[in-house]
Amino acid sequence: MKYIGAHVSAAGGVFNAPINAAKIGASAFALFTKNQKQWKSAPLTEEVIAKFKQTCQEHSFTPEQILPHDSYLINLGHPEAEKLEKSRNAFIDEMTRCQQLGLVYLNFHPGSHLKQIDETESLAKIAESINIALQQTSGVTAVIENTAGQGSNLGYRFEHLAAIIDQVEDKSRVAVCLDTCHTFVSGYDLRGAEACEKTFAEFGKVVGFEYLKGMHINDSKTPFASKVDRHAPLGAGEIGWDCFKYIMADGRFDGIPLVLETTNSDIWAEEIAELKKLAGLAD
Ligand SMILES: [Zn+2]
Ligand SMILES: [Zn+2]
Repeated sequence: MKYIGAHVSAAGGVFNAPINAAKIGASAFALFTKNQKQWKSAPLTEEVIAKFKQTCQEHSFTPEQILPHDSYLINLGHPEAEKLEKSRNAFIDEMTRCQQLGLVYLNFHPGSHLKQIDETESLAKIAESINIALQQTSGVTAVIENTAGQGSNLGYRFEHLAAIIDQVEDKSRVAVCLDTCHTFVSGYDLRGAEACEKTFAEFGKVVGFEYLKGMHINDSKTPFASKVDRHAPLGAGEIGWDCFKYIMADGRFDGIPLVLETTNSDIWAEEIAELKKLAGLAD
């Protein structure tokens, strides 16, 4: 079974996210559990937590269909001790919020070395950050997203994801989210079934599908291997529908949230309907 949805708004309260997702016919969704552009947010109240669980239940969303995303400010591979500490604390807070909401995943971008330390050292810091957060929380899996490789961001090679996982102590609580736009612009081709076959075989070999717990389904405005992250609506970018067709027809992508982060939210309902059709799901 494919779970298909979008990164919806949680404006007015996290309990609005499942309502917004249901409105566009989604069977999965992503959300921010706090303002993603701020370090601090008010803690979740018992009332808000109960309301979130209730609206999820009303719209038949189980925790496995929900992929919360953390704040963009967090850098778990930060070269400076004080700033790394700040990021680690914010990440633990994000994990805690997910735990309180009864969620099982937290999706995050691995981090950046900021050209101050080498990749290996930064990847080790990221893994250590995950170990610390896993020790202080329970029930939530840390889901590392692959990146476009802009600037000094790590996670643009499958080997980076594997290196982080390798250094995480509790492998049952670490996983990966593949973003199709990031995959493509970082240099793994997805244009057509043959290219998809090759790229996902490489992912299977280097990381392993047992670690795949979510995907971001985006087309790319920028060319192959450009390392520039600009999402586009499905079919309106450089990747094209063949890739999304391939994913929808492949059982390796069953049972995990497949989430649109495409740029025109007005057509999310249409994109979801089209993906569902490709997956052989009745509306
Ligand atoms: Zn993404
Ligand atoms: Zn992106």
